[in-house]
Amino acid sequence: MSILVTGGAGYVGSHTVRWLRRSGQSVVVLDDLSTGHRCAVPDGVPFVQGSVDDPALVVDICRTHAVSAVVHFAAKSLVGESVSNPRKYWTGNVVATHALLGALLDAEVGKLVFSSTAAVYGEPETPHLLESHPKRPMNPYGRTKLVIEELLSDYARLGLRSIALRYFNAAGAEPSDGLGERHDPETHLVPLAIGAALGTRPALTVFGNDYATKDGTCVRDYVHVSDLADAHEKALARLDLVDGHTAYNLGSGDGYTVKEVLDQVARAAGVPVPHTFGPRRAGDPAVLVADSTKARSELAWAPVRSLDRIVDDAWRFHSNAR
Ligand code: UDP
Repeated sequence: MSILVTGGAGYVGSHTVRWLRRSGQSVVVLDDLSTGHRCAVPDGVPFVQGSVDDPALVVDICRTHAVSAVVHFAAKSLVGESVSNPRKYWTGNVVATHALLGALLDAEVGKLVFSSTAAVYGEPETPHLLESHPKRPMNPYGRTKLVIEELLSDYARLGLRSIALRYFNAAGAEPSDGLGERHDPETHLVPLAIGAALGTRPALTVFGNDYATKDGTCVRDYVHVSDLADAHEKALARLDLVDGHTAYNLGSGDGYTVKEVLDQVARAAGVPVPHTFGPRRAGDPAVLVADSTKARSELAWAPVRSLDRIVDDAWRFHSNAR
């Protein structure tokens, strides 16, 4: 029996492949390499280059590798791009996932863990977000993820049990395994700040310093990518107990401002992070922090890697890759 990991050559996907393998599970990766990296998939893991939007291929993989469950990462995931090119997101996320689910039903694979996001919520109404918080995504990226969650909920009637994991701010790396964040273009705070400190990227622009937060910059909940990987393993184990479909927030519950993250990067780098202050970025809520009580109690999951570990690991990954 194997776990099919779609998007297993991407950032969270590759760390999850590493995690599952370390716990002795067989894994097969399907990735079209549009944003993933072939070298992020370890030797010995069967790798298929292709799209989840290819039902014959998916059915063939499921039969060949005796797939018992799927972890579905393959997606378009840039908020800004989703605004400028929504078609790419509705096709690449919703249409492609719909095709994947059809193939899984044909192949009689009845378990799936879905890579979702805190972007399904939109502007927070409470400081800590529960899963039941109203869902008003502020961009097509968040909307496509929410629609897929609804699709999964409907498909529970067809025998597909699923769990959506809503990540807050994924960050960090596993430098000893050569795994880390390598987006192109890169839009995320931690790798951009590290690049600025290393001199491999321009000075960072902090998006807004007039928010109603303790230092005027946005507050986010950063969670180590290996803590996310751990949650996927726990969600896979939980699927047998799930009645249809459910969702879990994955965050630490601790919020850090952009300035605090820059201070942490400066500590790891030993030099200040060159930065300037610019206008707010469209669609950025002031504060986005998880209430992960449900994941803690039902999945027995708790993030154990703090912000300094997140930044240290990311720093080591990027300075090694230089
Ligand atoms: N951010 C910033 N400058 C950048 C990139 C990000 O000030 O060049 C801020 C952004 O406004 C947000 C936080 O850093 O408050 C985290 O942003 P990121 O894009 O990493 O994740 P998001 O919160 O959008 O998922």
